[in-house]
Order: sequence, then structure tokens, then C-alpha cells
Amino acid sequence: MSPYGFSTRAVHVGSSPDPVTGAVIPAISLSTTFAQSEPAKPIGAYEYSRSSNPNRHNLETALASLEQGKYGLAFSSGSAVTAVILQSLAQGSHAISVADVYGGTHRYFTKVANTHGVETSFAQDIVAELAGLIKPETRLVWIETPSNPTLSITDISKVREIIDASDNKNIVLVVDNTFLSPYISNPLTHGADVVIHSATKFINGHSDVVLGIAVTNNESIYERLSFLQNAVGAVPSPFDSWLAHRGVKTLALRVRTAAESALKIAQFLEKSDKVQAVNYPGLSTHAGYDVVKKQHRDALGGGVVSFRVKGGAEAAAKFTSSTKLFTLAESLGGIESLLEVPAVMTHAGIPKEAREKSGVYDNLVRLSIGIEEVEDLIEDIKQALEAATAN
Ligand SMILES: *Cc1c(COP(=O)(O)O)cnc(C)c1O
Repeated sequence: MSPYGFSTRAVHVGSSPDPVTGAVIPAISLSTTFAQSEPAKPIGAYEYSRSSNPNRHNLETALASLEQGKYGLAFSSGSAVTAVILQSLAQGSHAISVADVYGGTHRYFTKVANTHGVETSFAQDIVAELAGLIKPETRLVWIETPSNPTLSITDISKVREIIDASDNKNIVLVVDNTFLSPYISNPLTHGADVVIHSATKFINGHSDVVLGIAVTNNESIYERLSFLQNAVGAVPSPFDSWLAHRGVKTLALRVRTAAESALKIAQFLEKSDKVQAVNYPGLSTHAGYDVVKKQHRDALGGGVVSFRVKGGAEAAAKFTSSTKLFTLAESLGGIESLLEVPAVMTHAGIPKEAREKSGVYDNLVRLSIGIEEVEDLIEDIKQALEAATAN
């Protein structure tokens, strides 16, 4: 365990000066193959770039340290991490997931994993329902906290306790920590077996790389995922690994700013008479706030806020096309603020009834808060709310 704090590790782990040239920042290693001195005796630590690459290795080492895990693995996207984890399950396995999971994860569970003989049960309230859903074939429990886009909080240690109290000793607990980043929460320390990220979001943080990360302390899980990483070949390029690693170095600065601004924006929205409801886990009125206090650094709520604008789908559409600083676009976690309407964009693939059960109504707007001046962002929201609710 490193004695250093978060940002010290973010800057230094996996980023030593080059021993040959002295370059302070690691070079981008584009070579696909690496020389050997005799058959099967590579000169250095690398053989072939799909199996392992210096830039990917640096990034994996940095993320493992930041998530307080032993082993890190990088993939070509967050979705590739999901695919590889589900691929690691034998036919006939059963998985349990929170219902308001990332849209692409829901799609993978219901349209891909099932064709390989892996069935998934979805829980609206996983802490309440989990014990009753575990079967002898259950191999995986999948949670996302805060959930997307309604930002409900799951108590990871409670889920761990329920799994440990069951007769089934073969269940792996996976936490998708994309929305918080390792700066705000480290799920492995609360009982997760694997923590995963779409590094496309906060970890890279500049909306210019698609990449996924998995971190674990469990050696046999690591061996299996590492085998599949190479066998499936869904690996990030050296350049993308290098960019994401650069992003990691400012993660704490970006995420703290985004979270502090998000709280001010959520407080502003809560007071607005043009808003029906606000979801933000950093608000002391949030249903999961007690869990936030123990599970999140400094009770930070993260950089994503969602709210229901009065006036239905039409007002939501008007609001999202009236902002000047917030760009209407999918994704989140970048330095620039974005917004979207989940019901018709990221979550359009989920049937309306299931969507609304999870709180994803037609007038729900999701904001991803960037690092712009918060006063400017609030001003922008204010004028867009006026435009959206004027007749
Ligand atoms: C974006 C996202 C994913 C998928 O990651 P990609 O990098 O887009 O493949 C998975 N989970 C969450 C919570 C996400 O936001």
C-alpha cells in the first residue's frame, strides 16, 4: 500500500522518468512487437502489443493504485469491460443487476449475455430484494452507484453482507464506479470484488478517448479477465492509454471542482419553481445521504445532476436546446458541461414502463457539470428554464 495521498499517486504511479532519455513524460510506444534475445526470451517486459504495451501498463498500474487494488486492466471501452466480465461466466450462470443500470449494460444483459446462456434478474431496490433473488447458479451481482440517470445510492457494504450471508459462495460483486471516479469512492474498500469504469468519462475527462478499466484484488479474477483481455483483443491503443493516463493526473482537481459546482447547481434547481424534482446525492435531503457520507470522500455527490423540468417532454426538449454553455450531447465527465434527455437519448432502448419505474420520466434532464465557472453555468440554466417554461 502506497503511503502517498491520492493526487501524489495520480501524478507519479506508472509515470517514472524514462531511464534512457530522461524524458519526464513517458513516450508513446507505438511498436506492435518487441525484440527477443532468443526464442521466447523478450528483451524487456513486452512481447506483442495486444498482450501488453508500456502505455497501457502504465495506465493500468496508476488506476490499480487509485482504486486501492492490486491489479488493473484497461480495455477498448467501458462496454468491452462489461462484455469481458460477462464472457467470463459459464453458460447457465445467473446474474443480478440494479434495474437503473447504464443503458448499454442493460442492453448487454438483455440482448447479448442471454444468447450465451447468462440470464439476468433486475432489482429495483437491490438491498431489499437481493437475498430473495440469489439462486444456486448466481455468479454475479452488478451495481452502479450512483445509478444513471436517477442517481440513487446503493450501500456497497450492505450488498456485500447479503452476499456473504447467503449459501452461495461463488458470487462476484462488481461495482461500476464511472459516475464517481476513484477520487470520490473506492468500492473495493467497501467489499466489491471488481470495480469497473468507463474511463471515457471522468478518468480521461476531456471527451477525447473511449476506454474502459477494471481493478481487482482477487488474483484468480485478474487471471481470468487478463486472459480474456488478450483472447478477445478489446484493448485500447497506446495513444488512448497515454491520453487517459494524462487525464488521470488532474482527476482530483477536475472532479472536486465539478462536484462542488454540481452541489451549487442542485441547490439552485431545488429552489426553482420551474423544477418538479432534483436528484443529486450531494444534497443532504437525498435519500441516500447517510450512505454518501460513509462511501464518498467528503460526502461529495459527483459531477452529475438530474432533474425534472415542469412542462413535460416538450419543456425538457426546449430546455436542452436553449442552453448556451451546456452542449446537448450524450456522455458525461468531461471538462465541458453537457446535458441530455435520457428518455429519448441514452435510455431510449429501455421500454417506457421499465424506464418510468426507475424514475426516468420524459421530462428528466441529466446534466454533466464541467469545470467552467459555476456562476456562468447557473446563469445559463436560469435563462434556459425561462425559455423552456414560457408559453
Ligand atoms: C459510458 C458508461 C459505460 C460504457 O462505457 P463506454 O466507454 O462508453 O463503452 C458504462 N457504465 C457507465 C456508468 C457509463 O456511464
